[in-house]
Amino acid sequence: MKYISLNHNSGPTSFKKAVINGLAPDKGLYFPQEEVKLSKGFIESIKNIDDTEICYEIIKEFIGDEIPKNKLIEVINNTISFKIPLKKIEKSIYSLELFHGPTLAFKDVGAKFMASCLDIFKDSYTSKKITVLVATSGDTGGAVARGFSDTKDINVCILYPKGKISKVQEKQITTNGSYVQAIEVEGDFDLCQSMVKRAFSDEEVNRKIALTSANSINVARWLPQMFYFFLAYKKIKNTKRNVFSVPSGNFGNICAGILAKSMGLPIDHFIASTNINDTIPRYIKDGIFEPNDTQATISNAMDVSDPSNFIRIQKIFNNDLQKIRKNLSGYSFNDQKTKETIKELYKSKKYLTCPHSAIGYLGLKEYMVNDDKINGIFISTAHSIKFKDVVEDIINSEVKCPNSIKNILNRENEHQSIEGYDELKEILLKRD
Ligand SMILES: *Cc1c(COP(=O)(O)O)cnc(C)c1O
Repeated sequence: MKYISLNHNSGPTSFKKAVINGLAPDKGLYFPQEEVKLSKGFIESIKNIDDTEICYEIIKEFIGDEIPKNKLIEVINNTISFKIPLKKIEKSIYSLELFHGPTLAFKDVGAKFMASCLDIFKDSYTSKKITVLVATSGDTGGAVARGFSDTKDINVCILYPKGKISKVQEKQITTNGSYVQAIEVEGDFDLCQSMVKRAFSDEEVNRKIALTSANSINVARWLPQMFYFFLAYKKIKNTKRNVFSVPSGNFGNICAGILAKSMGLPIDHFIASTNINDTIPRYIKDGIFEPNDTQATISNAMDVSDPSNFIRIQKIFNNDLQKIRKNLSGYSFNDQKTKETIKELYKSKKYLTCPHSAIGYLGLKEYMVNDDKINGIFISTAHSIKFKDVVEDIINSEVKCPNSIKNILNRENEHQSIEGYDELKEILLKRD
């Protein structure tokens, strides 16, 4: 498979190059050059074959012979090494729990897959030591740090905004030992992001070290997110239409689901559920793409007003708004509504969700007012412990802490603090 740039000013490139570059030279997002269609026979057999084989059959079309079969199987097994339960919450409503991975959010899947690909490609890429440089608003940092824990000769450098991520998220970033350099930035996520961008275009830095991004737009993070839509479908026992509600921020996760549908997976409809950063629900309604300033919410991993991946969704639907509307609904919810829902689900269904997942549930309920003869599946993107303070405040009771988190909560935070780009540059140049 070759990858084209959605800015159309860079030529087609290999999977390997697309993974290493992250973004195309013309700053466009990479997109598979050819459409992939799975055979009817394969779709019908999904319910009877094992998870690894399902994932292999899907992803091999996007990688071709760039990773040998036995290696690719190994990568897949490392990526889906945790359980992905589909839990019935109420009549026709299921939660697809993607938070049982090492850092308790769905980003573990993409981060692990990408780390394994880079590990395979690194020797033919550069003789310099690779540093993965990433800015995080919360969940990406921990997932990337953990994803690279077995690829010891790749360094990871994570920038996070001081005081703007949860305590558990901070522990996941700052307690990994020496291969991860955690950098606390005096400022917000946008500042972290702009420093990362500056480092990538800084010639002096790039002469000395090989920088790679682990941004969520990287094809090696985006594509494996298809896995869980297929694995969820495998678990469904009836033939009702399937509708997925995906709590969305940068729209990578939902875009992977839409790609899965375009390949032939029987999904009837998608719901983009957002917080008040509602650019896409407004776009679907009015046809006008008009991002507002980003607003901070309790579902902070979705505080995105100009979602990078939406252009990929437009591409899948040939930029046809009517087609988009036929396949995708969008609803947004404020913090108040989110809190009420967490409380209500906990009280009446004994089901505890994080703020993001609660928004997924809300979007599904809203859609089902007009269409309830379906399997409604909302994606639970993170464990509630990651947002402990917010959630405990809402339910007035303690969130049970998984053992994996208990262990890191007692560890000492190790990080450096910086205010501006010059300090970041100094840190990067010192390290090789
Ligand atoms: C990243 C994240 C999201 C948003 O996912 P996108 O792919 O960016 O739309 C939702 N919930 C949680 C918990 C996340 O970490």
